[in-house]
Amino acid sequence: MQDTSKVTDTTPAKTTGATIDLPGDWRYAPSRQSSAPVTIADRYGLFINGGWQRPASGEWFPTINPSTEETLSEIAVADGADVGRAVKAARNAYEEVWGPMSGTERAKYLFRIARMIQERAREIAVLETMDGGKPIRESRDFDIPQAAAHFFYHAGWADKLEYAFPGIDPKPLGVAAQVIPWNFPFLMLAWKIAPALATGNTVVLKPAETTSLTALFFASICDEAGLPPGVVNLVTGAGETGAGLVSHPDVDKVAFTGSTAVGKRIQADLAGTSKKLTLELGGKGAHIVFDDAALDDAVEGVVNGIFFNQGHVCCAGSRLLVQETIHDRFVDKLKRRLATLRVGDPLDKNTDVGAINSRAQLDKITDLVESGVADGAEIFQPRCDLPERGFWFVPTLFTDVSQSHRIAQEEIFGPVLSILTFRDPEEAVTKANNTPYGLSAGVWTQKGSRILWMADRLDAGVVWANTFNQFDPASPFGGYKESGFGREGGRHGLLAYMDTGI
Ligand code: NAP
Ligand code: MG
Repeated sequence: MQDTSKVTDTTPAKTTGATIDLPGDWRYAPSRQSSAPVTIADRYGLFINGGWQRPASGEWFPTINPSTEETLSEIAVADGADVGRAVKAARNAYEEVWGPMSGTERAKYLFRIARMIQERAREIAVLETMDGGKPIRESRDFDIPQAAAHFFYHAGWADKLEYAFPGIDPKPLGVAAQVIPWNFPFLMLAWKIAPALATGNTVVLKPAETTSLTALFFASICDEAGLPPGVVNLVTGAGETGAGLVSHPDVDKVAFTGSTAVGKRIQADLAGTSKKLTLELGGKGAHIVFDDAALDDAVEGVVNGIFFNQGHVCCAGSRLLVQETIHDRFVDKLKRRLATLRVGDPLDKNTDVGAINSRAQLDKITDLVESGVADGAEIFQPRCDLPERGFWFVPTLFTDVSQSHRIAQEEIFGPVLSILTFRDPEEAVTKANNTPYGLSAGVWTQKGSRILWMADRLDAGVVWANTFNQFDPASPFGGYKESGFGREGGRHGLLAYMDTGI
């Protein structure tokens, strides 16, 4: 756990040398969420056609807890033959059961699944935290309730699709191949599966290699909910399994959330086919803080936007553009707040910053932070006693960042904030838009007209005003530029899974 009584900039290269004194030692005692309610099997097979199947390859891989490095379970590696069986099961279920089923009947299944997620929310949250490293506060209070909300929301649409798009008789597409990342494993699954099922499609989903356990838990929910066999199928494995799934010829729709590099490859693979595609990719979101903003609120928003959940958030506010006149005051407030963040055991209910999801991701963050130091930016890290085992990264601020630095351009996907300044709104917009991405932005000012002026000009799928990271299933989410295309959530999100004949 972090020692918050004194905060020192520890990095040897070009540091501020600042020490921040905080009053006394006021740390909370640990309050650990028990993992007792969770049962994890030694091994998980593939969930195909309503049952558990052994992988054709006979191969399995370990999934670990990134905060302890202990192996939690072994997961099946699905190869081409397994993917083929899963797609066939989804095709049969689409043609024989789910496609012909009325929206009213489909809605009942979705409601049932939503209720079961609520009933078992604590188990799912603990499992998510153990397998992925995110703080239990995040999985308990955000990921799992939001996932249930997505199923409730889409259950409501299932029998009203003709009203969603008046004058159009929308049809399902068929079999949806869905591939998701490791940062919001259960929530991304809900974002994918709920709209697909509501609109009458069947699904083959591949979770990320490091975080398959809650998806496998979801399979047991589908089973208990009596969902007809083949409507939802899960194939686990590495990138090749995902590649085999999206390129399978009998898939009608591909929905991918992950890195821009992989998204581009999938788009190239699908070129010339009739498959419908949506891509939710990376981001380099900017907070823009004007001098009239409520600064303490903005500090909280900035901290929430990048440090909670270890910066493993596609729409994270990983850049801060702060108006020049308030730069020093704002950065000082931020450093003080950083000093109070608790880094450590993700199952502790007081933890703000949990474990980095994998060693590979930790290496990537470390490499980019080193590039920031080498490029001449000034680094600040509070003093932090990190656990001996597991993957951890100290919350980090960079000042004196220039737009050409890698830390200002590339997605770090870790608890690292790059701070730049601006003088007027035009400059703020130019700098905010100066990345290949276009996923999110946050504007902090008391002037409503300025918020609207900025929102018009920012290349971002979502612009939050005087808040950050607010989500609702009714609100469409998605990107511009290299952050992808298509929307998830809301009425727009339904379109990604339907043939409207237009
Ligand atoms: P990733 O490496 O692209 O992986 C995403 C998923 O694709 C994983 O299941 C992965 O399997 C699989 N995959 C890897 N190579 C593949 C291929 N050639 N064909 C098909 N599937 C393949 O991304 P990540 O590192 O897991 O996730 C972080 C990224 O996701 C970040 O860039 C983040 O911004 C983005 N993200 C975007 C959103 C959004 O809504 N825009 C939301 C969340 C995350 P393995 O796990 O086995 O490699
Ligand atoms: Mg894991």
